[in-house]
This record gives sequence, C-alpha cells and structure tokens, in this order.
Amino acid sequence: MSTTGASIVIVGGGIIGASIACHLALRGATDVTILERAVSPATGSTARSAAGVRHQFAAEVNIRLSQYSIERLARFTEEIGGHSELRQVGYLMLITDPAVWAKYLGQVELQHRFGVPTEVLDPLDIERFVPGTRVDDVIGATYCRLDGYCDPHGVAMGYVTRARDLGVTIRCDTAVTAVHRAGDLVTGVETPGGRIGCDVLVNTAGPWAGAVGTLAGLEIPVLPYRRNIYMTEAFDGFPDGMPFAFDVVSGFYIRKEGRGLLMGLTRPDEPSSERLDVDWPWLETVLAAGISRFPRIEDARLAERQCWAGLYEVTPDHMPVLGRHPDLPNYVDASGFSGHGVMHSPAAGLLMAEEILDGRAHTIDIDDLRITRFAGRSGAVETNIF
Ligand SMILES: Cc1cc2nc3c(=O)[nH]c(=O)nc-3n(C[C@H](O)[C@H](O)[C@H](O)COP(=O)(O)OP(=O)(O)OC[C@H]3O[C@@H](n4cnc5c(N)ncnc54)[C@H](O)[C@@H]3O)c2cc1C
Repeated sequence: MSTTGASIVIVGGGIIGASIACHLALRGATDVTILERAVSPATGSTARSAAGVRHQFAAEVNIRLSQYSIERLARFTEEIGGHSELRQVGYLMLITDPAVWAKYLGQVELQHRFGVPTEVLDPLDIERFVPGTRVDDVIGATYCRLDGYCDPHGVAMGYVTRARDLGVTIRCDTAVTAVHRAGDLVTGVETPGGRIGCDVLVNTAGPWAGAVGTLAGLEIPVLPYRRNIYMTEAFDGFPDGMPFAFDVVSGFYIRKEGRGLLMGLTRPDEPSSERLDVDWPWLETVLAAGISRFPRIEDARLAERQCWAGLYEVTPDHMPVLGRHPDLPNYVDASGFSGHGVMHSPAAGLLMAEEILDGRAHTIDIDDLRITRFAGRSGAVETNIF
C-alpha cells in the first residue's frame, strides 16, 4: 500500500462523493481527498436533478435508504450545516391501470410495515391536491406527506463545506486518468498533476462510474442516460404547496419550482449517451401526456431557456452499486443510483463510511446492492422508477 498521498481518495465531487467524505471526516478520518475533474464540486448530475425525495419505493432497501436520508435532510442545518431546503409537499402517484394499482397497494403495505405513512386516496380526493386533474380513468392514488423535494446543490455544498472544515482536501480541475494496481490492491491514481497514492479508492463518478471502473480494470454496470426537465414561466394555475405529482402509467411528472412548473417524462427508447442538449422533439410527447392528465398546463408558457438535460446513472436493475469490490478489496463503489442519488445521499455517506472504517456497512443491510448481485445471485429490483 502507498505510504504517500491521501489514504482515502474519492473520485467525483458530486453529492455522493461529498456526503461520503463528510461522513468519513465526522468519524475522524481526515486523510481524505476528493478528486473532481470539473472546476468546482457539484456540477455533474447533482446540479441537474429534479430534486425529488420519496419513500414510495417497491424495494425494501430503497425504503430504508429513504427513511434514513429524509430524516437527515429534515435536520440538515443542525447536523451538517448549510441548507437542504427540504419541502415535504408529498408525492402523489395517480394510477389508471388495474395491474399497476394492485402492485401499488402491495407497496403501500410494505411501506406501512416500515412506518411510512403512505395514504391510499380515492380519485375524488385528488382535486384538493392538484386542482383540475382529469380523474375519469384514475383508479386511485397513493400519497405520502413526508415526500417532496430539496435543494441538491445546497445539500452537496453543505457536505463539501463541513468536510473541508474537518480537514478533507478537495482538488478540483483534477481528472483521474488511470488507476494503479498491484495485484488485487489499488495503490493510487494518475492525474494530470501527477500520481496520488491511496489506501482506499472510492468511485463516486456518477454517470461516469462505469468509465472510472474500467480504469481500475473492473466492469461496473453503470451507464449514462439523458433525462430532460422542461420548465414553465410563473404560473398560478396550481397551488404553491402542491405535491410532486406523477401520472404513473405514462410516467409524466410535475411539481412547482419557484413560481413556475417543472415537468419531465423519460424517453424510453433513448440509447445511453452523454448528451446534455435538451431533447426538443420529445417535448411534444411530454406536453401531450401532461395536458391529458393535468389540463391546466395548457395555459402555462414554456420557459425555453430554463429547460435543461442531465444524465441519469443507470444500472440494469435500477439499484445503486454500493460497497467493496470482491476482486479489489480496497476499492469501493457508490454509484448507479439510477435517478435517486440526491435523495439517498445521506444514507450513502453513512454506509460507505461504515464500509471503509468498520469493514462493512451495518446501519442498513446493503447486500442487495453489492456488485456481486450481477454475478448470478438475484437481488431486489426497483420497479417504481421514472
Ligand atoms: C434530469 C434529472 C432528474 C433527476 N431527478 C432526481 C430526483 O428527483 N431525485 C433524486 O434523488 N435524484 C435525481 N436525479 C439523479 C441525481 O441527480 C443523481 O443520482 C445524483 O446527482 C448522483 O450524484 P453523484 O455524486 O453520484 O454524481 P455527480 O453529481 O454526477 O458527480 C460525479 C462527479 O464525478 C466527476 N468525475 C467523473 N469522472 C471523473 C474522473 N475521471 N475524475 C475526476 N472526477 C470525475 C464528475 O465531474 C462529477 O462532478 C436526477 C438526475 C437527472 C439528470
């Protein structure tokens, strides 16, 4: 093992790398360095998120990650500093398909077992949450008042600032271009400024985690996929405290962002890419789905210059890859959150600090999330994705 340089090197200064560094430092590990290739932290996917936080998942481990994380986000200023701007306006899931409804009712039971207060709503209840919603074909809805959205940049910078105060080094403009190994151990990384030795390497490169894994000679099944967010000008057709609302069968979602509306819908046939240009041809499909469910959208004006695209970091089962790699024991993955990395960043930080400092994550069982699941053993699969 290297005796020079940082003992723990984290590749990627997004919300996940920042949270892990902060949690390591809170546990007393100050020999921690984040290497970020951009000129400042939190400018990757973290800066391009829809910022949603929810408990309404189908996989037990995701519910647990959310419970822990959303409690932390609610107390972020006291516990970490900075601000999370958590707004618990709820998530409202509207369902029009009997088979999907049956699955959602099963998920609500699972969520209740963990104490998540998800409510089952009658279509006629929906009007009081999102006025004007078309409900003639809606079978029912689920609503959890503890869900909502936050400020991902505020959270990431809260972790960065606290980590720095505790002695963590953050080196921006520093791309990792190679990973050095001696047999089954990582010994360091190469950067344009030279080699940096390390005892532990953590891959938090978000959508680029597969590429960083390749540098280490590993196959990490995380691929980037473009996702688009469409914004409107200020619009008073929906109340300020309206929930983050999902038309589950079409996949269309909408929430308030400031005085405007934020909308999205995943294009299912788009191949993996690193494209960051907004998909304008897709907008027509998004608006058709949105207006069909929430007709008031038709009166809002698109704010073209406020729309953006970002990259989801997607795994085959839409679950993150967490933990030490069995073939390279001083290499740790924390990536592949598949669109849930903002909401799960507090738990990821806690658990990866445990994995590194205690030998194994223990507050929440992450065995379903280890990379070994892709080698035959079946793990949980998250079906509740957008
Ligand atoms: C449109 C959209 C909507 C989303 N909505 C939600 C949502 O509602 N809720 C939610 O929880 N999540 C959401 N997400 C997902 C969320 O944004 C991500 O899961 C999260 O930001 C991942 O954080 P990260 O730190 O892993 O990745 P990133 O923020 O991308 O950070 C990775 C960093 O690694 C750096 N890097 C890469 N390669 C190298 C290298 N070789 N050397 C050095 N540095 C490197 C990059 O520059 C980058 O800064 C959304 C994402 C998008 C795009």
